[in-house]
Amino acid sequence: MSLTDRIEGLRTRIVRACEAANRDPEGVELLPVSKKQPLTLIQEAAALGFTRFGENYVQEGADKAAAFPDLAFVLLGPLQRNKAKSALQHFAEIQSLDRLDLAERLRRLAEELAVVRPVWIQVDLWDEATKLGGCAEADLPALIAALGDDPRLPLRGLMAIPPPEDEGAFAQLAALRDRLQQDLGCPLRLSMGMSADLEAAIAAGSDQIRIGTAFFGERVYAR
Ligand SMILES: *Cc1c(COP(=O)(O)O)cnc(C)c1O
Repeated sequence: MSLTDRIEGLRTRIVRACEAANRDPEGVELLPVSKKQPLTLIQEAAALGFTRFGENYVQEGADKAAAFPDLAFVLLGPLQRNKAKSALQHFAEIQSLDRLDLAERLRRLAEELAVVRPVWIQVDLWDEATKLGGCAEADLPALIAALGDDPRLPLRGLMAIPPPEDEGAFAQLAALRDRLQQDLGCPLRLSMGMSADLEAAIAAGSDQIRIGTAFFGERVYAR
């Protein structure tokens, strides 16, 4: 199947999900996830008008950002302290902020590099932390405080990868977003939903779905 065919099928799924949820499809951002996808496919997607791409690994994203200086790459994968500087240099946005020491380090480095990078906090309400990263709900206030309204790291929203078998997870995330939004008095977006579960995420109020395989096809892993 060609990239255009896959994207068309994806758009149909998004429109149907929005109709079912009584939502405007314009309110759901489609973020293509290009990890483990070749440069040629990113190029093709860019020619179709896509300008932002999700990546999981700092080095791979940095290489792609160097190859495509006009495109913006968003970091979705776990971020280690020693890669924080490289992440700020090569990514337009960081969605996997999940702990205090990382927030402090990013603030220091963003000032040193004089860059502004919107951040999203990755949350984990299901105690999956060791596997996929993510901040526990109880630790959120301290993490948000550590960001300290730093204009170099504006908080855009919450990102999560809920366990696939948990049907209530998306609603749980939406409720958390609503509470935090009220507490903080500022809008927060919700990034949830992937190729297999975008309909349920849209029904629960997702503002951004991160789509890899349904957009680009199967990922190519090195043998
Ligand atoms: C890989 C990945 C995606 C996309 O996954 P698909 O199932 O291929 O759509 C989305 N978000 C994160 C954080 C990912 O690591």
